[in-house]
Amino acid sequence: MSLELLKLNENLYLVTGQNAGRFPCAHSFLVQDRLCALIDSGCGFEILKEIRESFSVDLVINSHGHPDHSSGNWLFPDVPLYAPKEGTESHGRLLPLSHRFFGPGPLADHWRGWIRQVMGFVDHPATNFFSDGHIFDFGHLKLKAIHAPGHTSDHYCFFEPENRILLSFDIDFTSFGPWYGNLESNLSEFKRSIDIIRGLDPKLVASSHLHPIGEGIEQALQDYTSVIDKRRRKIIELVSHGISRSALVDAAPVYRRHLHGPELFRFFEGRMIDLHLEELLAQGIIDRQGEEYRLASSEPASSLEPLRRAVWGMDSSSCSGRYGNSY
Ligand SMILES: [Zn+2]
Repeated sequence: MSLELLKLNENLYLVTGQNAGRFPCAHSFLVQDRLCALIDSGCGFEILKEIRESFSVDLVINSHGHPDHSSGNWLFPDVPLYAPKEGTESHGRLLPLSHRFFGPGPLADHWRGWIRQVMGFVDHPATNFFSDGHIFDFGHLKLKAIHAPGHTSDHYCFFEPENRILLSFDIDFTSFGPWYGNLESNLSEFKRSIDIIRGLDPKLVASSHLHPIGEGIEQALQDYTSVIDKRRRKIIELVSHGISRSALVDAAPVYRRHLHGPELFRFFEGRMIDLHLEELLAQGIIDRQGEEYRLASSEPASSLEPLRRAVWGMDSSSCSGRYGNSY
């Protein structure tokens, strides 16, 4: 696949990633201004080599520490690499990254091998770090860094205020929905981050894994966030019969099928289920008896909807309306 640039404004382009930007690849972004910048480097090595030959890249910027956004940094060894300050200790280094995302142990070892094999990841530590509110000034184009954690603790979006263009990276609007499967992922922070980007009222949203969205952004945001509620409803339904964590992971209410081999799948699935269980426990909707999770209500499963109404004050079919008062 050769270099394909999609113009977002006079100075900002989306670089279509291999595999149409689908994981384990991702779209990158290219700034052509007084300074030339590459934002994220998971679009594929052949494309990156073409960028290296066609443009004089002055700096590379990463939106967060995940390897599908940083695997090609090493192809630009002589320019500064800017990374989020939240990832200072680990950015671009696979061993500390694996411990961040999984904790030390065999799964972290397995993940490192998989990332090297699938993404060709080579360690390349960052040289500079940015934080929330940082303005990248490229000449005409300015991008404001907006800390948007939840997916990871170091996840950022970039906002171009003049034309209200949002680079939303892994708040990615895919039909899979929000991904919060690492140890540091956080469901309430993810919801808050979605609210933050909604508050920016963007006119164009370009994520890392889909074609940019210019029309119907609010609807796309609602569709994307509604997946969280669908998972929650599915988990409540499973818990209503009494179920262990292990059986919940087997039921795969998030992934529905194995994608990355059983070990990684079970970790990601389990971690995302855990965040929902923690939320439901904190809200008093479920409780835990030994190894088993059950509904806190004595109502039988068939009476789940009245329970939901009692808790949220509305029918489950209008779940998207809950955002704003339940975060
Ligand atoms: Zn990511």
